[in-house]
Order: sequence, then structure tokens, then C-alpha cells
Amino acid sequence: PRQFFVGGNFKMNGVRQSITDIVKNLNSAKLDSTTEVVISPPALYLTLTRELADPKIGVAAQNVFDKPNGAFTGEISVEQLKDTSINWAVIGHSERRVILKESDEFIARKVKAAVDGGVSVIFCIGETLEEREANKTIEVVTRQLNAAAKELSKEQWAKVVIAYEPVWAIGTGKVATTEQAQEVHAAIRKWLGETISAQAADDVRVIYGGSVSEKNCRELATQPDVDGFLVGGASLKPAFVDIINARI
Ligand code: 13P
Repeated sequence: PRQFFVGGNFKMNGVRQSITDIVKNLNSAKLDSTTEVVISPPALYLTLTRELADPKIGVAAQNVFDKPNGAFTGEISVEQLKDTSINWAVIGHSERRVILKESDEFIARKVKAAVDGGVSVIFCIGETLEEREANKTIEVVTRQLNAAAKELSKEQWAKVVIAYEPVWAIGTGKVATTEQAQEVHAAIRKWLGETISAQAADDVRVIYGGSVSEKNCRELATQPDVDGFLVGGASLKPAFVDIINARI
């Protein structure tokens, strides 16, 4: 059985005070102890969050660079994350793919650098509305997955959580239906079995992101291939606790 996983991606939101409030609220809430929780504040607040958060709560950077060090202004290395006890990174978020023009190959190199350096990865994939309407959803997510498979060894997938985030569902209030989510999650699991290993298909968590709320999380969580969520807007609110507890 795969451990249920709920990530909170704060994106470029929050300041010292509001992030402190969010973390303290999580620390004092009753969270489903069987769910793995990882929160991802803006880079400046990673150390603050790590120092404040209960040790059971993981902390993820929203990005990391693929090179170990050097003249890369504005970037953060895997070693620097490890050095500050940040053991997770979100990589390949659609906002970075679309707005910052990150390619499948660049993202795959970052996933590789993170896992090589001992940082686990929330690896985001997903299609745009245009791609869905052209019936290219599976083709697109398979292309994104294949890029990572070229870099990672089969064993390294144990350090990856795959986040399926249809771009049209992110921040739009238009959540994928349970059937739409389950269909793509099942296809991703099939890909894992065929391309990586039977063990990866059994063990790798595939989580859903895109307008997840305290209202829709329970039904999504009933799906056999939905192993959790990556939550944006709602992770900034007290309702995040209800999403973490979607299965109790
Ligand atoms: P929303 O939950 O705000 O739609 O964002 C989803 C997301 O992009 C999480 O990474």
C-alpha cells in the first residue's frame, strides 16, 4: 500500500508572519498520521519553515538547479537544500514550464540532480487545455515522463512522487472530475509498469493537483490510483487540514 501524500505549494505567496501562522496552525492541528505532508514555501522562507514546522512535516523547495555550484545567478543548488535540511523539491511545475519556459529535458536534469543529491522530488506533469481538447493528454504526460526516465535509474523512481496537474485545472476552480483524474493516473501507473518496473508501478505515488479543495478532495481520494494531492491556493488556508485528512 502506498502512503497517502499531501503537498502544499504556496507558490509566490506569503511573508514571514503569514507563513509562521500557517505552519503553527499545521503543527497544532490533528493530522491523519498515515498521511505524508510536505509544504513548499517560497525559497526565502524555507529555513524559517523548516525550523518552525513539526519534524513530521516535510519541507520542499519550489525549484532547484541542475548544476552543483558556480556562476548561476539566482539559482539554488541541491547541496544548499540538503545543507539547510530541505529534503524535497517541487520540479517541473507548469508555471515554470509555461512562464519560465523550462523544457522537458532541463526539468529531467533537475530531477536527476535532486535525486542524486538525496533530495526527493515532487515531479509535476500535465497537459494544457489545448492539448486535452486535441486528445493529447496521455501523449503529453508520457513525453514528460519519458524525459525523466532517460535521466533516472529505475531504482531512483523510489525518490519521486509524480504530481499530475492538468494546467487547465490549476488556479481556475475547474477541478478534474474523479473519472478524468483516475483515467490519467491509471495511464501513468501503466507507464511506470511498462517503462520502469512492476515495483515502481506498485510503489510510486501519483498525486493530483489543480483546484483541490476541502469540498472535492474526499471523492478524488476514493480513486484507486489517486495517492494524494498537490494543493495550491487551499494550502494557504485552514482548510488545508481537511484536505490532509481527506481519508478520515
Ligand atoms: P491550485 O490548487 O491553486 O489550483 O494550484 C494547484 C497547483 O498548481 C499546485 O502545485
